[in-house]
Amino acid sequence: MSKPNIAILGLGIMGSGMANRLLSANFPLAVYNRNREKCIPFASAGASIAASPREAASHSQIVLSMVADDAASRDIWLGENGAMNGASPESVLIESSTLSGGWIHELAARAAERGCQFLDAPVTGTKPHASSGELVFLVGGSAEALDAARPVFSVLGRDLVHLGPVGSGSLMKLINNFVCGVQAASFAEALSVIDAGGLDRARAVSILTGGAPGSGIVKRMADRIAANDFTPNFALRWMAKDLAYAMGDASNKGVPLQTAAAALSVFKRAIAEGHGDEDFSAVSKSPETRSNS
Ligand code: NAP
Repeated sequence: MSKPNIAILGLGIMGSGMANRLLSANFPLAVYNRNREKCIPFASAGASIAASPREAASHSQIVLSMVADDAASRDIWLGENGAMNGASPESVLIESSTLSGGWIHELAARAAERGCQFLDAPVTGTKPHASSGELVFLVGGSAEALDAARPVFSVLGRDLVHLGPVGSGSLMKLINNFVCGVQAASFAEALSVIDAGGLDRARAVSILTGGAPGSGIVKRMADRIAANDFTPNFALRWMAKDLAYAMGDASNKGVPLQTAAAALSVFKRAIAEGHGDEDFSAVSKSPETRSNS
């Protein structure tokens, strides 16, 4: 069976890894990025560069967007030269960015009007997993659309979980990042208390990472802090975005996320202090003790 034509919209940290992975697997690929310069390396690797999301979608059976936030997704799909206007009714549209439930449902309705199949398929995993095809897709939408998109998911991911109708994948992803964000903010505050209390930082951190609080996210953060390396795998401002979207979606379901609110205030302070473009682990550079002193 011939491989479907694919479009990747958004060549940031995650989209560029995914595009490289598809090229390595010899998929015919069109790429679009708002800042066109990021497309150039993909042309030499065999991708066609589209001048607009519309152009990228018009030649593709599967169109996957991996952009920043709701506003970026709206521009990519519904902007003047957005992908929705180029998509043919047979195509499968996939939104893999981490977005709010409200926007996902609006987008799915627009895809249905166009006669396209739509999946929300955000991912767990970060930069190295995107490049190596080890993402996990959290999918919402019909089984039929999922089957049509399987050739792409199987190259980009090590697993996928079909959670239910449109919106289920996004809700699960926001719950996932809510829990991650709260742990990251707690760990940042814990480091502040460790320092303020005069404990040996390395020993204290190894007690935390080696014990019950030593989750994957806390360990990842501890490694980054120890290496003093805050180059982003997952930008701090996107963690703040996810906490805010999680709070909005949960609140719409009658559940106030109080710990997310506290964590978001810690992340917002880090953004105000200029750490938004660094890795989320840079939230540790904005300790609670400093703002209260
Ligand atoms: P990123 O490196 O910051 O890339 C963001 C992308 O969005 C860029 O291609 C950017 O284009 C594009 N964009 C932003 N605003 C736009 C607009 N108004 N119109 C069109 N394009 C726009 O982000 P990322 O780390 O790849 O993350 C992408 C998505 O995946 C986010 O929703 C994030 O939460 C989610 N995610 C990230 C990770 C991770 O570990 N990085 C893991 C799971 C999920 P320009 O290049 O022109 O700015």
